[in-house]
Amino acid sequence: MLAPLLLAAGRSDDTDFALTALRAEDARIATVAYRIAVANRDLCPLKSPWFGAVVHELRQYAPRYRPAVTRVFDLGPGPALAAVVPGGAADRAGAQVGDRITAINGIRVDATPPGKGEKANYSGVERVLARLANASRVGPVAVTVERAGTPVTYDLVPDRGCRSQVQLETSDTLNAGADGTMISIGLEAAAAAQNDDELAISIAHEMAHNILAHRDRLDRAGVERDAKVRNPQDALEIRKTEDEADLLGLYLVAQAGYDIDVAPPYWERLSGAGDATHAGGTERRAMTQRIVDEIKASRARGEPLTPPIAIPQP
Ligand SMILES: [Zn+2]
Repeated sequence: MLAPLLLAAGRSDDTDFALTALRAEDARIATVAYRIAVANRDLCPLKSPWFGAVVHELRQYAPRYRPAVTRVFDLGPGPALAAVVPGGAADRAGAQVGDRITAINGIRVDATPPGKGEKANYSGVERVLARLANASRVGPVAVTVERAGTPVTYDLVPDRGCRSQVQLETSDTLNAGADGTMISIGLEAAAAAQNDDELAISIAHEMAHNILAHRDRLDRAGVERDAKVRNPQDALEIRKTEDEADLLGLYLVAQAGYDIDVAPPYWERLSGAGDATHAGGTERRAMTQRIVDEIKASRARGEPLTPPIAIPQP
């Protein structure tokens, strides 16, 4: 929806609109992912700090958009906050959208602008996130920002959550994918979710793949994940991971307080006829409805939500 618009944008006001819409979608995904990761931390053997902010910098955008990005987001040469999760760690510390990060624990943050024609890349953002994560191991992180030309420093104490990073994928892919820690949600997948409850279903499904270490498991079994044609045994292994991600995903969503009732019709709508690796819409609806019913029944009995699946320990 947005990416074609972004590509087609010839007039500057079209580009401005597309960028603003992108940032809104980024904020929405960050907020839903944060809530799911933090609410389920006790379930996850691998945890990471969650700061509740989306960091961006000029370098991550294609060269032709950099002038518009600079103008629309008032972005300087270094990293800045593109979004702040309401009620999250950064919000509680007093962070604001637009804050330009200039130092972490008193040590300057690199603000070298991208070279002319430098391809879009996340190197700067990754450096800042790694520094924040490292610094947070020993206590609150003093983050110094420039806000409207004035330096401001706040102490950031991240929440702990299931280890995952989430980013909005701006290429035209329909499927969200989980690669171990990074969850990429495609623009179309994000747009297909009509509300945060539906978005939570997709994000939790991907997070479940991570928590269940599915990538490792398939690699160890020698399954070709990207093959177009598969032997039936490989297809079965993949299908198993998909069903498990649907199962655990719903428990994650329930624990985070999102509405699980939207899941069966949502999966029916998103799934096509089905194939060897994915259930078709009708089957997936019936399957996820059974999980929803079980969660509701255990809630009605006043039991804690315990997913009926083993979480691999590292
Ligand atoms: Zn999946």
